[in-house]
Amino acid sequence: MFKFAQKGMVRYLESEALNACGFLTHAFLTRWNGASEGTFSSLNFSVREGDEEDRVARNWEILAGAFQISPSQFFMISQIHGDRIFVVDGLMDKDPSPLPLQCDAVLTASKRVVIGIKTADCVPILLADRVRQVIGAVHAGWRGTALNIVAKSIRVMEERFSSRPEDILAAIGPAVGPCCYQVDEKVFSSSKGDGDWESAFRLCAENGRWMLDLPLANRGQMLKMGLLPENISCMGMCTSCRTDLFFSHRAEKGVTGRQLNFIVLE
Ligand SMILES: [Zn+2]
Repeated sequence: MFKFAQKGMVRYLESEALNACGFLTHAFLTRWNGASEGTFSSLNFSVREGDEEDRVARNWEILAGAFQISPSQFFMISQIHGDRIFVVDGLMDKDPSPLPLQCDAVLTASKRVVIGIKTADCVPILLADRVRQVIGAVHAGWRGTALNIVAKSIRVMEERFSSRPEDILAAIGPAVGPCCYQVDEKVFSSSKGDGDWESAFRLCAENGRWMLDLPLANRGQMLKMGLLPENISCMGMCTSCRTDLFFSHRAEKGVTGRQLNFIVLE
């Protein structure tokens, strides 16, 4: 369902179902073969955690070169663990924004606008309506998941683009798995009264702690919105177990980089 691929120096994973659409390019990037060093080694796309700006800039160049994308095509957001969804209409250069927009999901039907999200444990979800050719990139950590951000994103696809759930493909990328994601009462209590969200928690032997399966919770939210089970693919790779491949906020004690997960209509 997912396979490794390489363009230039960039190693990434891709969803075979999204590839089969034929009208888009997408990638869940690994951390390999970038310019950053130490704990940010090496294909890091965030300066927020303390990496050097020129190294991150070099990583954007490496990506742009590998995928033949102009730097001006990237529409990047400032992720804040909320449920705000932004729809990109038309060309971006009409509205040069000095600050990245604060939101956690981006949708577009515009060609050559690269939308993406940065992650290091949170769940990256790429969406594509294969009939109406609408795409989305969603960032779902526990807060976003508790806020139903992926379901709300699908609702916006229905309202703005007349998408039908049965036409929507979803690819859930690398994220912290239920093997490694122990959470406390505060997180668990966010699920109260929501049976689907609650079922993603498993009580640990350790008192007052739960193991949370965020990819499963997001899959459940998409099924509830009417997406077909066969149209949702989940990579099932845990960022915390696989720090050889991915950045992991938890496994690396909060000081690490961010991998990029992106999608673009050709
Ligand atoms: Zn794990």
